Amino acid sequence: MIDLAENYRNVNDRIRAAEVDAGREPGSVQLVAVGKIHPASLIRGLAACGQRAFAENFVQEAIGKQQELEDLQIEWHFIGSIQSNKTRQIASNFSWVHSVDRFKIAVRLNEQRPTDFSPLNICLQLNLQEEETKSGLSAKSALELLDQVRNFERIRVRGFMIVPKPVSDPLEQRAIFAEVKHLLEQANGLGHTLDTLSMGMTDDLEQAVAEGATHVRIGTALFGPRPLK
Ligand SMILES: *Cc1c(COP(=O)(O)O)cnc(C)c1O
Repeated sequence: MIDLAENYRNVNDRIRAAEVDAGREPGSVQLVAVGKIHPASLIRGLAACGQRAFAENFVQEAIGKQQELEDLQIEWHFIGSIQSNKTRQIASNFSWVHSVDRFKIAVRLNEQRPTDFSPLNICLQLNLQEEETKSGLSAKSALELLDQVRNFERIRVRGFMIVPKPVSDPLEQRAIFAEVKHLLEQANGLGHTLDTLSMGMTDDLEQAVAEGATHVRIGTALFGPRPLK
């Protein structure tokens, strides 16, 4: 049996310690709990500990859980790869989408976000290490996409998201997060108003917080290893 309350405490302690080490304001990093492949009952358990932001990677699975957890006040984040035939469901069932990686998807989310909802918060997913198996934008194409969606009214581009190549050296982990931070500063220097760096997972959250992460996406440290799908 996993002890959700203890895991929750440990993860929050790690985040607080990383904030202090980085000289950052306590509470400046938001924990987004990643529930993919885990049952809705675990999400309910963590919500009972006080967690409010939850992320999912698969649309069908997410919507099933949302229905099961309808009675809770959860802020839902989508972090999975996006097929264009799923954008309508994503636009109407989530507050945040961290994984926008092309213009067409941004257009569809903007068109499909219900008008009685607040604008959808978006992050552009980066792939700065040019990994062929991973989706995400290069620095250059991310800056181009920012310009292309500048006047969209139903989505609000908040910043960047990255899932770096897994490496164990903390300095290597930090180096890639530093690149993401520099890209955000570059974009803001060009007149954008980005405020979000979605980076840091179970194995590298300290390095991400050291480089300015505002949202860490944590699964394993909260819920334990994921069951086989
Ligand atoms: C699964 C997943 C996470 C959580 O990873 P852990 O290592 O389990 O903390 C974070 N972000 C994305 C995009 C994921 O797919």
